[in-house]
Amino acid sequence: MKINRNFLNLKDSYLFATVGAKTAAFKKAHPEKEVIRLSIGDVTRPLAPAVIRAMHSAVDDMAKRETFKGYAPDQTCYGYDALLDSIIGSYARKGVTLEKGDIFISDGAKSDCGNILDILSTENVVLVPDPVYPVYLDTNIMAGRKIVFADANEENGFLPMPDGKVKADIIYLCSPNNPTGAAYTKEQLKEWVAYALENDALILYDAAYEYFVTDEHLARSIYQVEGAKECAIEICSYSKTAGFTGVRCGYTIVPKQLVKDGASLNRLWARRQSTKFNGTSYITQMGAAAVFTEEGEREIGESIDYYRKNAKIISDVLDELGIWYTGGKNSPYIWMKCPNGMDSWSFFDYLLENANVVGTPGCGFGKNGEGYFRLTAFNTHENTAEAMRRIALLLKK
Ligand code: PLP
Repeated sequence: MKINRNFLNLKDSYLFATVGAKTAAFKKAHPEKEVIRLSIGDVTRPLAPAVIRAMHSAVDDMAKRETFKGYAPDQTCYGYDALLDSIIGSYARKGVTLEKGDIFISDGAKSDCGNILDILSTENVVLVPDPVYPVYLDTNIMAGRKIVFADANEENGFLPMPDGKVKADIIYLCSPNNPTGAAYTKEQLKEWVAYALENDALILYDAAYEYFVTDEHLARSIYQVEGAKECAIEICSYSKTAGFTGVRCGYTIVPKQLVKDGASLNRLWARRQSTKFNGTSYITQMGAAAVFTEEGEREIGESIDYYRKNAKIISDVLDELGIWYTGGKNSPYIWMKCPNGMDSWSFFDYLLENANVVGTPGCGFGKNGEGYFRLTAFNTHENTAEAMRRIALLLKK
């Protein structure tokens, strides 16, 4: 018996454990201080009323023999029509035409980010941005693929662009980005699509935060760029869009036009899913189907606006302090440069001890994250405003 030794090449992830341990130690030493977390990476607002009503009604369906549901009707995409239609409608409003057969319902973006690699050879060279959402990196280390990094930094606004000298087969793009909050314009994505088509590469596009985008020139889907259906898979989630982090639902778009190495990726993915997956629950899907209705979109919009307002509270203070940052405008994340040349962990300690505010050290997301710091918009208005008042006081000194 042999293990997959690639797992031994994974670095232990100390980031959130260390943030938690340092915060707990500080609270224990200073029980009188009120610590505010601007490090929350999870949503905090409840589900929209339209979603709750749809889920209650789906529970009632399960209670009656006539309306009870077992396994999903389609054993490849696993989607009920109501949900697939609502996704098609939401894409149509972004100017993208999808067919039912292009959409696969999942239990969230994280699983599909990892699982999609099942259908791709381990011989492929993978391009991963640095800093990065760690899932892209770790899932490829697990499979033993060769990884090259695309440097994201202040010069490129933390939005790396294709480099003709680098030959990659699989490219990860995440926009709006976690951790940097930076978002690609449609024009920038055109260059990535051109690179992928020219190099016979596949783009894995993570659109988990697309509902935060308000600027027209920024992309909400890679399929807003012509040619993307021939070179990109898009992975989406209801987690940040509609507060589904605990409910679990997402969808992955594998267009029928996507043919690589002589095979339809749509067919390979359907085959993979029908073998290893058994669907997302009916109750969850009915809740998700309510998200992209007129009422649902208005209600989730209120929650997203709530987070946007927090992001603005944060970015306004950083503007006032003259601190460089990305994100905050079309994203719940604000990626700030640590002041006075501090490294990420020194700034973490400084902020915790002097402002009693917790953020996430950028160095935990890759080497280019050193010297940067992530703040999030997921706390309450009151806490966010108080945290930023303290940060302003501290850094103005
Ligand atoms: N992709 C990115 C970039 C994320 O930041 C996250 C969650 O934080 C996910 C995917 C995971 O989403 P889900 O909850 O749908 O698994």
